[in-house]
Amino acid sequence: MGGRPGYLTLPIFSVVAAIGYVYYTTVFVAVPRWLGLSTAAGVANAAAFTALAAACLATYAVAVRRDPGRVPPGFVPDVEDAESTVHEIKRKGGDLRYCQKCCHYKPPRAHHCRVCKRCVLKMDHHCIWINNCVGHENYKIFLVFVLYAVVASFYALILIVGSVLHSVPKDEQPGSDSSRTSIIICGVILSPLALALAVLLGWHIYLILQNKTTIEYHEGVRAMWLAEKGGDLYHHPYDLGVYENLISVLGPNIFCWLCPVLNTVGNGLRYRTSYDIPVSTPPKKIAAHSQ
Ligand SMILES: [Zn+2]
Ligand SMILES: [Zn+2]
Repeated sequence: MGGRPGYLTLPIFSVVAAIGYVYYTTVFVAVPRWLGLSTAAGVANAAAFTALAAACLATYAVAVRRDPGRVPPGFVPDVEDAESTVHEIKRKGGDLRYCQKCCHYKPPRAHHCRVCKRCVLKMDHHCIWINNCVGHENYKIFLVFVLYAVVASFYALILIVGSVLHSVPKDEQPGSDSSRTSIIICGVILSPLALALAVLLGWHIYLILQNKTTIEYHEGVRAMWLAEKGGDLYHHPYDLGVYENLISVLGPNIFCWLCPVLNTVGNGLRYRTSYDIPVSTPPKKIAAHSQ
């Protein structure tokens, strides 16, 4: 089905192993050294970190297994769709977007993934760490996973640094040297990981605020350059304003924006554009149309 490689790849195994190692070292080495597992503070921190690690694993599993969104068989874009996706049609030289490999029309924002060997709705990118595309159906859970992973990484770093700075005297701990070594290894793994995840999260927040996918960001850079060369203004057609952009990606309920619920808006075949919104001022002409 769809040419996807097997579920358990080396990157997936590495992610699960990293979560397991960081979890074990934080809860069973760092917390006992610093706070002790018999104190209220120790138990509270161990419980909170356990919940966070479980949330990471659960959202990761959904991001891996959930279909990112496929084009329904026999999909034909109607004329209205063609109107609303004018910029994509223009870019492709006047034709409706058609995938030669899958032999079907491509809905707006869908792209063909060479790894998955099929078209993916609102494709963002193919992620080797989940061995899956990030698309319309799993983008939100992917984002929530990255958010939880950032929080968990920095939380673990705080507990690890704390355990190095405030550990109980050495002679009261059996196996102190080995615990110190595993804490240091954990810190060395965690520091670049926390930084990389935070950068990834920041990047996707930046994209969401403009309602862009990673692919559309790169296309937009090109379109903007071409438009500027011709003295025009390029406008991303799916940018509906910050609040509407957040709703269309994270769901209509603001209290569920950061929760691991799958409340994606729409079926992934049509998207509102800034040209659909009834506005008092006429929308800016897009590059392809202006003089
Ligand atoms: Zn395709
Ligand atoms: Zn893919």
